[in-house]
Amino acid sequence: MDLSNLTIHQINDLLKYREVKSADITNSYIERIKKIDPVISAYLYTDFEEALSNAEAADKIIQKNKDFPYLTGIPLSIKDIFLIKGKKTTCASKILNNFISPYDATVIKRLKKNNYVFIGKTNMDEFAMGSSTENSAYKITKNPFDLNRVPGGSSGGSAASVSADLCAGSFGTDTGGSVRQPASLCGVVGLKPTYGLISRYGIIAFSSSLDQAGVIANDVLDAAIMLKAVAGFDEKDQTTRKFEIKDYPEIVKRADKSIIKGLRVGIPVEFFSEGLDSKIHSKIMEIKDLLKDLGAQVVNITLPDTKYSVAAYYVIATSEASSNLERYDGIRFGGRFNEGKGIQSLDELYRKSRESGFGKEVKRRIILGTFALSAGYYDAYYKKASLVRKLIIKNYKDSFNDVDIILGPTSPTPAFLIGEKISDPLSMYLSDIYTISVNLAYLPALSLPAGVVDNPTKKGGVLPIGLQLISPWTTEAKLLSVAKVIEDEVKFRDKYTPVI
Ligand code: GLN
Repeated sequence: MDLSNLTIHQINDLLKYREVKSADITNSYIERIKKIDPVISAYLYTDFEEALSNAEAADKIIQKNKDFPYLTGIPLSIKDIFLIKGKKTTCASKILNNFISPYDATVIKRLKKNNYVFIGKTNMDEFAMGSSTENSAYKITKNPFDLNRVPGGSSGGSAASVSADLCAGSFGTDTGGSVRQPASLCGVVGLKPTYGLISRYGIIAFSSSLDQAGVIANDVLDAAIMLKAVAGFDEKDQTTRKFEIKDYPEIVKRADKSIIKGLRVGIPVEFFSEGLDSKIHSKIMEIKDLLKDLGAQVVNITLPDTKYSVAAYYVIATSEASSNLERYDGIRFGGRFNEGKGIQSLDELYRKSRESGFGKEVKRRIILGTFALSAGYYDAYYKKASLVRKLIIKNYKDSFNDVDIILGPTSPTPAFLIGEKISDPLSMYLSDIYTISVNLAYLPALSLPAGVVDNPTKKGGVLPIGLQLISPWTTEAKLLSVAKVIEDEVKFRDKYTPVI
């Protein structure tokens, strides 16, 4: 049996019935990472010693107890934006090249309580700014379906690590699509929960009013398992709420076709206009027909202010980023230029440390955000963008009076070629056109593999495409259940596998 091609729930079954040990599972991932990751570059670093010692500890727990948490002994990868005590966290930036995390992020604390196996930190766009992982200061991650293409971003290493079976699941973050878009491009499931459902404590901040941790998984049940393990109020993050945490895995297991009967599904006309790849368009329409056949009431809806979402996002996200990234100055946080040697003044130290430590895209955003917040421009940009955000929230609220769930594409195109968009930031920004408004409205959304399209640059090759389901605040249980029913019909994992 190939032990590195299993879902979390399959591994959990094997562990429960003592058919394998976590150490066996972990070893098979380690072997695969050694063989495959030099080609994919999903990981910024791995920690096999830690992985094996976590696995042994998990095996002891499994031996003693019948009831152990779902993630016990499961090897997971972590985006290099989460702090893990005593380990390096770089956020794929040179400025944090030597930063050792002084404490655990709440997500990590909870994973440790669940006896997970930490296998490594994944590559990402620097400070989570990007949609292709090409903005990493360290390496370029390849899409497991075509090594000439990007895995998406910013959690591209996480999505590639799951897609290429280099771990059983991964935690990422989603500020404007960074979990859903790479999941879509790599043929895996990506869930961004309601803002405030998962603690942001110990996650390096990009845009605090938009950032949310998310999960990248092989299937919907795995996503439910991962969400359940980390969700919930945290006194260290005052933006988390005391939401009821449902038993998502049990709810997903019970989900069947009957839940689609009478379900009101909204198709936003704005998500199917120019810019959307025609093959993706028809694939999503197939899913729409499928839902109709299963008894859903499908209606067209309108989210009229969607057209302003990218503009509003890039004002709000860059403004918050300019403030959040102020702390990397070579004194409080971040590497000091030339260790301070030959520097004449404090100002010069700040300037040189930031100039040499940050990459091009990060600098672009700091400058944009600083401008948008500056006296005289604040009302025209930040305030206006905040008002647009209110309109977008209202668009969704109005729609959810009429429908239970919204269906559309995750990304306007399948995975693009490495280098294709990197010199054109605007076209890169547009790859998040369907995901960004969800963050602005604090909503939960999930990207599910919907099928594939032919790869135009590789004869016989295919590229995954993702559908996006968006549901009202805190309705993750419904979101996951509907996704599960579609997943059972599409059977993506049975049909398509990456090229390596
Ligand atoms: N691609 C978007 C950006 O560059 C979203 C990134 C994210 O979600 N972290 O800002």
